[in-house]
Amino acid sequence: MDGILSSMEKLRQADVRIICQWIPSHVGIHGNEVADELANAGRLQPQPIVPATLAHVSSLLRGETAKRWRAAIEGNDDSRLAKLYEARRADDYRDHLPRGDAVQVFRMRVNHVLLLASMSKRGWSQSASCRLCGNRVEDVDHVLFDCPALEDCRSPGWGCQDRSQVLWAERSVLVEAAMLLRVFLRKTKER
Ligand SMILES: [Zn+2]
Repeated sequence: MDGILSSMEKLRQADVRIICQWIPSHVGIHGNEVADELANAGRLQPQPIVPATLAHVSSLLRGETAKRWRAAIEGNDDSRLAKLYEARRADDYRDHLPRGDAVQVFRMRVNHVLLLASMSKRGWSQSASCRLCGNRVEDVDHVLFDCPALEDCRSPGWGCQDRSQVLWAERSVLVEAAMLLRVFLRKTKER
């Protein structure tokens, strides 16, 4: 880009008039075909490492993630995600949680947690078995209700419940669900 700008500047100083014009691609215009070939060749070259701030990268990632979420929701009108968005209720206690807990609860609702069940489906993990107890599939239900490694953390009477009920329940239940997930993830890191 800097090269283009300085070339333009030199041409301008030599009194050359520069006109920018949009040209439809792939119509057999020689200069355009050459530019296309060069662009493709450039794409295959090793890419330079450009310093970027964390804020810039995270804003790019946020934008890209939001775009993918919207695409997933719009392209899938009976999906769990779409229902979830439609069912945004006035009495959602998630709105009153500290941000960290609110994020965990949201992730569990949409099943978007880095647990081996979903990671193995995406090919990021060979195994789907729980990293703590090893005997069952590591998914949200397992973390909330099953995993014996979290037995001491579950309050009495927590028992095995319906995940969709628990994750839409009152504030104290949501806080406990978020805590269970947090403890689980911390324990897996400690291993
Ligand atoms: Zn387990």
